[in-house]
Amino acid sequence: MGGVHSGHRDGRPGLYQARLTPPWLMLATAVFAASLLGIFTRPIGSLATVWPANAVFLGLLLRFEKTSTFAGWVAAFCAYLAADLLTGASLEKTVILSGANMAGVGAAYLVCYRLPEDIKRLRHPSSMLYLALAAVAGSVAAGLVGAIANPILFDSSSLKGLFFWFTAELVNYITILPVILAFPDRGQPNGFFSSLRSFLNPAKLAPAISLLISCIAAVLVGGGGAIAFPVPALLWCALSYPVLATSVLTLLFSLWTLFSISTGLLPTPKEATNESVLISFRMGVGLICLAPVMLASLMTAHNDLVARLQHLASSDALTGLSNRRAFREQARSMLERSKGNGVALLMDLDHFKSVNDTFGHAAGDTVLAVAAQRIRGILHSDDALGRLGGEEFAALLSDCTVSGAKEIAEQIRHAVEEEPIRLDDGQEIHITLSIGLAAASEGTGNIDTLLSQADEALYGAKKSGRNRVALAA
Ligand code: GH3
Ligand code: MG
Ligand code: MG
Repeated sequence: MGGVHSGHRDGRPGLYQARLTPPWLMLATAVFAASLLGIFTRPIGSLATVWPANAVFLGLLLRFEKTSTFAGWVAAFCAYLAADLLTGASLEKTVILSGANMAGVGAAYLVCYRLPEDIKRLRHPSSMLYLALAAVAGSVAAGLVGAIANPILFDSSSLKGLFFWFTAELVNYITILPVILAFPDRGQPNGFFSSLRSFLNPAKLAPAISLLISCIAAVLVGGGGAIAFPVPALLWCALSYPVLATSVLTLLFSLWTLFSISTGLLPTPKEATNESVLISFRMGVGLICLAPVMLASLMTAHNDLVARLQHLASSDALTGLSNRRAFREQARSMLERSKGNGVALLMDLDHFKSVNDTFGHAAGDTVLAVAAQRIRGILHSDDALGRLGGEEFAALLSDCTVSGAKEIAEQIRHAVEEEPIRLDDGQEIHITLSIGLAAASEGTGNIDTLLSQADEALYGAKKSGRNRVALAA
């Protein structure tokens, strides 16, 4: 609410909103432009015809919930009508074709509009299953209108109309919708250009090049099996690239293959005139296209899961620091890089048991988390820091002299001691910690040896009164 008030005071959000395109206009413009694109590519060959408007319409409805209003649907319908009428179609044809489009998108939308965001955005293993269901629902609805429309408009049979419209719509939804759904949001850190840049990395181009070669080989060799030539390359792309790049490559594959089929490059010029053979090929292309996008979204979900598990396996839940295992790994590779040079710090909170006994275990947890934060605050971001267990923390400082490390240890001791830790209920806990310090000399750096030396020094610090820094002998 506060935002609304301040917005009115300086007037900026109001102005900003006035300049924003209304959702229905955005929808109508996109549907109109996509319809024109479909109409103008018709002469390439009736079976290659790309009709992106329905997939674009559905994609925008799913991406921008605000567009799905009565005004939005009416505006989209008008956009379909306008595109056909302006390019010279009869009123009867226009109304039937636009009705088919609306019925198809409506049916597909009903299947998936309530799905959770990560399924809609192709980041879930079952994403493509739902998308395929939506595509089938949309294509069946369009096919049923086609069955009625085909005898009226094109003097052809109902059955042909059903199959022709069904397969055309299926391929359109399966190939175009993923590109729209996987397209990054504006301002998203992993945005379009950064994914494009990573994709253009020469070392990562091999799967895309193999796709290009297999598409060319398919046309050169020809025959019934040729449409399957690019399948391994498509799957390699899905394993190597994010969903968006995979979807774009899959779309290009389908455009190229359908173009080749309708112009007789594939499967053979003689078969290019046989409509039922072509419908079967188109169905085949549509189903092939499901696989790479399904695999890419599965990989995205899998990679996210692995990253989450890796984080869980290497971090300490209470303090957010590295756990013992992750700290040792990090320290070992740091020592390797510095050719065995480094200084280890072993830190242990003093009389921590009495904190638990006096204030309770939950207060003890708060103390641990705050102490960890203070220690992290003193160290460099490239120093390794971990919670070894209980109230014991370890750090490895790279590129640091012994006297420098001693100074840092004193700063840590100070940061923990100087300010009491305040609990939510207002109680204050004063704590201190003791630090043992061990330096590796040239070539002798081994994290386990360093830690046991630091442990001895820590024992000395505890014995001589706590709240102090001691250096290993
Ligand atoms: P010293 O000064 O000699 O280090 O004494 P101390 O009491 O700190 O050491 P001691 O090893 O006797 O006690 C450590 C205590 O830390 C005992 C244990 O219950 C507590 N502790 C270990 N892990 C946790 C934790 O995750 N949360 C809380 N609240 N307490 C913990
Ligand atoms: Mg202790
Ligand atoms: Mg201890």
